[in-house]
Order: sequence, then structure tokens, then C-alpha cells
Amino acid sequence: MTRPGGTWRNWARTEKIRPQSVERPRTVEAVRRAVDAARRRGLRVKAVGAGHSFTGIALAPGVLLDLTDLTGLVSVDPETRSVRLLAGTRLHQIPGLLRPYGLAMENLGDIDHQSIAGALATGTHGTGARFGGLATQVIGLTLVTASGDLVTISESENAELLPAGALSLGALGIVVDVTLRCVPAFGLAAQEKPERLTEVVDGFAERAVASDHFEFFWFPHTDLALTKTNRRLDVGESLRPLSRAARLTDDLVISGLVHPMACGVGTVVPALVPAINRMSSRVWGNRSFSDQSTRVFTSVRHVRFREMEYALPVAQLPEAFHAVQCLIEERRWRIEFPIEVRVAAADDVWMSTAYGRDTGYLAIHRYWRKRPDEYFRAVEEIMRSFGGRPHWGKMHSADAQTLRELYPRFDEFLAVRERLDPDRAFRNAYLDRVLGP
Ligand SMILES: Cc1cc2nc3c(=O)[nH]c(=O)nc-3n(C[C@H](O)[C@H](O)[C@H](O)COP(=O)(O)OP(=O)(O)OC[C@H]3O[C@@H](n4cnc5c(N)ncnc54)[C@H](O)[C@@H]3O)c2cc1C
Repeated sequence: MTRPGGTWRNWARTEKIRPQSVERPRTVEAVRRAVDAARRRGLRVKAVGAGHSFTGIALAPGVLLDLTDLTGLVSVDPETRSVRLLAGTRLHQIPGLLRPYGLAMENLGDIDHQSIAGALATGTHGTGARFGGLATQVIGLTLVTASGDLVTISESENAELLPAGALSLGALGIVVDVTLRCVPAFGLAAQEKPERLTEVVDGFAERAVASDHFEFFWFPHTDLALTKTNRRLDVGESLRPLSRAARLTDDLVISGLVHPMACGVGTVVPALVPAINRMSSRVWGNRSFSDQSTRVFTSVRHVRFREMEYALPVAQLPEAFHAVQCLIEERRWRIEFPIEVRVAAADDVWMSTAYGRDTGYLAIHRYWRKRPDEYFRAVEEIMRSFGGRPHWGKMHSADAQTLRELYPRFDEFLAVRERLDPDRAFRNAYLDRVLGP
């Protein structure tokens, strides 16, 4: 995908670019050399992770730094449970790296394909009213700045840069390693079942607080919500993982075969979408099991899709959800992909979608062969009317002027950008739009 002269595409096939050159550094020193060489040639430079952002945030018009080979564990401090990982490490590699130390990441999103630096840069999050997004787990990082210098950021060194560096939009420099505060490895008991939508939406805030990790999916045109409630197990509680056959049925048959076929049929005959969604609500997620945290938090996505996600004050979530429901009904659209609703605790990471407020997330999706524009635009209007903040890695149309009003520390973030990248070596068109040139 990133071979020299080739075209780079993101996973969702919403963005592509032919960079002027591609570098695949294996060491921190090689990253410094690449940044330095780009500066001398007057080229802009960007690192890409796994290309799992739906926006053009990772587009590298000048030098593309592919950090696939900059992976692994640098060090572990068992006393503070902190672990230092190279920036290109994929999330799915982390459980294996931490297993010998009995540690795990505190919370995760829906998938584990992303690189750790890429996931942090866009504010990737999971669900849980007492838990923040991935960036809240960051206690340090090392950046290569535009001048080619290495800047260490931690709670004791350049600490004032931490709330900006932990979630940087890739705008402050090339992250070469990150230090995370981990927790003792833990299991999760998962309960997934269809429930009456109205009750789930109306009771969302209470259920989210009462559970460790609560979320639900709603297939439009149905009156059922698929709820997922995960409870963190105490040490010594035994695990009851899904059998291999059950996992295969869920991952391969339902997600890998039935769902893609259903999306294909719905694309050709949209009138069938409501019936297909009713069927999907019944075959998806009616199970309970327990397993290691990563195996419960994350799953495989076989069907390509497009996504927009907005973060709202959690108390506004039910009203906003109802508004989207009415919109879909009024416009008579046939929406084949579910809406996902999650929650996160308020945090103090400057550009986090949950900065300063307990947050409910509403994510809408469309099958990649359907045009998302009209649906996404109309839902975005509703989200904005509730003070919603868009996920940095998912499709949206907000610009710097709008975002400045939504993020109290926006100008402080820009001041850090000015300090670390005064010549905008790390800019691209997306950053120009959301941060300004
Ligand atoms: C199927 C799917 C499921 C998803 N599920 C979730 C979810 O559950 N929750 C959620 O919040 N999001 C989710 N996302 C969004 C995804 O987590 C983010 O877009 C994430 O940023 C992707 O990580 P990546 O490694 O692919 O980064 P990329 O998309 O490659 O890059 C993202 C940004 O990080 C920057 N970057 C990457 N590496 C570095 C580095 N070393 N130094 C500096 N900047 C760097 C890039 O320049 C770019 O600005 C999902 C996306 C997909 C496609």
C-alpha cells in the first residue's frame, strides 16, 4: 500500500494520495533522518498508522512515514505498571507483549487493527462511564519535532505538553514512542442481547453508570436495541470463553458472510432493508460469555463501511438519538448499517472529544457502496445543535472556527503547535481545515 511510487488508500476507501516519497524507518534515528531530509528538501512529512481513519487526517502529500517496522515493547516498569511502546505497534500486538508482565490496557475500542500512535492521535475510545478514551492512559511520549529534535514528554519532563501531546492529531511531530499506564490483566463477563429500544434509550444514562462498559447498537427500521454489557471480573473469577464453534459462527458466518450478503442485497433492493435489519437484530448478539479483556472489547469487521461519530454531553444523548430516529423516518431513507451508542468519562486531554464533560457517543455508518453524504450531513446538523464534537478520525465537515467554540483549550493547543511546528512541516489539507493553516 505504501511502496514507493504507489497510491496510499485508507481502509474505508474514502481517501487516497500519491506521496512524493515513502520511507519505512526501523529506528528512531531513521525517523529523525527522514524528518531532517524532508525539511531540507522543503517537503511536508506525515506518519501513517494503519490507515483506519475515515477522514483525510493521515494524508501525506510529501513524505509518508510508514511506521510498520517501528514496533514493540521498549520497557516496562512493573511498580508503576507503565509500559513504553514504539509508535507503530499495532493494538493487536499489545496483549502478547504485556502478557509476561500480567498487564493490560485499561479500555479499548471496537477493533485492534490500529497503531498505538494513530489510535491516540485521533482520540480513539471505547465505552464505559468511568473510563476515558485511550489518550487518558498516556503518561509520556517521545516526539521528533520539525527541527529533527527529540522531545521527551512525561509527568516530570515537559509536562505542560502532555495534555496536547497525548492526543495530537498528528500535528505536533512524529511520535516515536508512547508510555501508557496499564492495569493488571483482567477478564470481562459479556452479556449481549436484543432489548426494547425505547427502554434502552430512555434508561441509557443510568445503565451506563451502573455497568463497567455499556453500549448498544440500533438497526434502523426496527424497535430492538442490541445491548452489550461488560463487567470487569475480580481476580480469581473463572472465564467461560465462547467455544471455537460459537466464535466461528459469530465472526465468520454472521459477520463475515451473512452481514456482507445482507448489505449487498440491501444495496440492490433498498426496500428489503427493514426486513434485513429485523433479521440482523435477531441473529446478532444474543450470548453471554467471559474472556480476557481484549477478546471481549474488540472484534473483527469484515464489511467495509463509512462512519461519522459525534460526542455529546451524555445527558443529551437520548434526545439527540430520538431526533436521528425521526429524521430517518421522515426522509424515508433505508439505512442498512446500525447506529452505535457509547459513553466515556470526562477527561482533561485538550483535544479529546470528552474534554471536560461526561460524554455520550452516537456513531452512524453506511455500507461503503452507498453514498453517505445526505444522511451524514443531516445527522451532523442535529449533532451540532446539541453541542456535539466530531471524532477526529471519522467523517465530518467541521472547521477550525466551529471547533474553537467546542474546545475550551483549542488556542492553547495551537500555541503548542506553533512552538513545535512553526513552519507546519506536519500539516495537510485536513489539518488546515480543522486547526487552520
Ligand atoms: C473498522 C474501524 C473501527 C473503528 N473503531 C473505532 C472505535 O471503536 N473507537 C474509536 O474511537 N475509533 C474507532 N475507529 C477509528 C480509528 O480508531 C482511528 O481513526 C485511528 O486513528 C486509526 O488508527 P491508525 O493507526 O489507522 O491511524 P491512521 O488513520 O493511519 O492515522 C491517524 C492519525 O494519526 C497520525 N499518526 C499515526 N502515527 C503517528 C505517529 N507515529 N506520529 C504522529 N502522528 C501519527 C496520522 O498522521 C494521522 O493524523 C475505527 C476505525 C475503523 C476503520
